[in-house]
Amino acid sequence: MGRIPEDTLQAVRDRADIVGLVGRHVSLKKAGRSYKGLCPFHHEKTPSFIVTPERGTWHCFGCGEGGNAFAFLMRQENLTFPEAVRSLAAELGIEIPETDGGERGVLEGVLRANGLAHEYYQRALFAEEGSGARAYLTGRGLSDADARRLGLGFAPDRWEGVAEALRRARVPAELAERAGVVRARTGGGHYDLLRGRLVFPIQDARGRVIGFGGRALAEGQDPKYLNTPESPVFRKREAFYGLPQALEPIRSRDRAIVVEGYFDQIALAQAGLGEAVATCGTALSAEHAKALSRRTRNVVLLFDGDEAGQRAMLRALEVMLPAGLRVRAAALPGGDPDDFLRKEGAEALRALVDGAPPALEVAIARAASRGCRTPWERADAVAAVVPLLALVPEPVERGEFARRLALAVGADPADVAAALRRERKGDEPEPAPAGPRRTSDEDRHYATLLRLLVDHGAALAHGGAELLALAPDAEWRALAEALLAAPDGTLAALVDALEGEGQRRLSALANEPRPDLEPPASAPRIFADELRWLAKRREEQERTAVKARIASGDAGALEELQAQLARRGAARSLPPH
Ligand SMILES: [Zn+2]
Repeated sequence: MGRIPEDTLQAVRDRADIVGLVGRHVSLKKAGRSYKGLCPFHHEKTPSFIVTPERGTWHCFGCGEGGNAFAFLMRQENLTFPEAVRSLAAELGIEIPETDGGERGVLEGVLRANGLAHEYYQRALFAEEGSGARAYLTGRGLSDADARRLGLGFAPDRWEGVAEALRRARVPAELAERAGVVRARTGGGHYDLLRGRLVFPIQDARGRVIGFGGRALAEGQDPKYLNTPESPVFRKREAFYGLPQALEPIRSRDRAIVVEGYFDQIALAQAGLGEAVATCGTALSAEHAKALSRRTRNVVLLFDGDEAGQRAMLRALEVMLPAGLRVRAAALPGGDPDDFLRKEGAEALRALVDGAPPALEVAIARAASRGCRTPWERADAVAAVVPLLALVPEPVERGEFARRLALAVGADPADVAAALRRERKGDEPEPAPAGPRRTSDEDRHYATLLRLLVDHGAALAHGGAELLALAPDAEWRALAEALLAAPDGTLAALVDALEGEGQRRLSALANEPRPDLEPPASAPRIFADELRWLAKRREEQERTAVKARIASGDAGALEELQAQLARRGAARSLPPH
């Protein structure tokens, strides 16, 4: 995809109405110069989500997420940066000059081919030739109205059904092939991939059809499920069936349910569990887990209670735990969720999901059930679960499950903890926990300095060198450097240049609720006061460190102390403001 020129990016940023954009997803109330609402990215009861229109930024003081209009679209609609820019530009009527139209042309072409194929499959379901497929749906408890609402379709048992429909719509055969709905014949020409199958449309978060799943309708038709292949828009490792419809229920219930079958997802939604999504013919991947963790921390896995189902559940845990997800596991007593719903009813299915125990408890019970009478059996049971426990990023959570494991198998908790430590050794350093990191006094004072710089940039830039020297850590320093280098009024642009902690800190200080801006005249005084506070703190810390070295008999330390005192004298002689 071609690069988007900086002046176009700036035009989109300038014209984006951040309050209007966020307001589509979050109910916002005016509060002084800002707007307040409930954060769409974490569950909360009191609003800590702030939008500041004059800056074009937003920030959640609860979970630490923040950024500009692009960052909001990327989070909310699961878009990449270029997609977010294009989406907003299209809305604002800003044209993006294409430096390289090739790949973008392919993406759009594939999406168009998918859209036309979807229309063809839907028409076929409600035509004469779709009567068998409709009867099959009725047999599974789905009415014609359900089928229309779900966008279900039918691929007739013909070699050139969708191929011909796309040809007539003037879709180039290569695009139809890249979309995966047709295949090339060795002797030239193309034929339909899905034939004689019920068709499920697979959509992205924005509701665009990215691929199709096809279920066999005839006896002995193999395979039972056939999906269109990976394409420029269909990535199975991150696709979820039912995603666009599930987004709102996932947000409002702060929970996602993951199943394996399309009919299972439909059954759960029919039973009032709209937060369900299904994987598309692949095992749950790390990408799936990451996509879920952006929307909720709470996931329920529904799995078959038999041995194969349990093993699949444990494999899913291996990818979900590292993403920091809190996973519950509901075992179905034989059969799939769809069967269960028909036999036991919606009430029972909801009770099963709501009462699902933590998946790690299920893993512990499974290991303990193999016997733990002898020391060897206990060691085996612990060894079976410890690799999973080691994946839990949150230390308190990990420790608590380790104690439960010890209790369940009758082992000494200290021994289980030791096994867990050994398992984790050689791992990457602990990933940063979700949410804002704890702020120290230095962080707060430094944030005030940078906020002043944001508000009164040019007037304070002369303090730049001292500001950089007093940064509490490398990330603050990088942020200060970026702010000093940025001309006034390009804060929203700066957000795009930063990522991770830097972006969170910038959006936090850009959206900090405060009564009003300081009068410009007093800004330099406050700025100087804050710098002095930090300098004093720095000096105290250095002195304490040197004293500790003197006490431990370090010969060079005394000299350093003297040098420090000299520096302090020089600093004192700075002219007062
Ligand atoms: Zn939040």
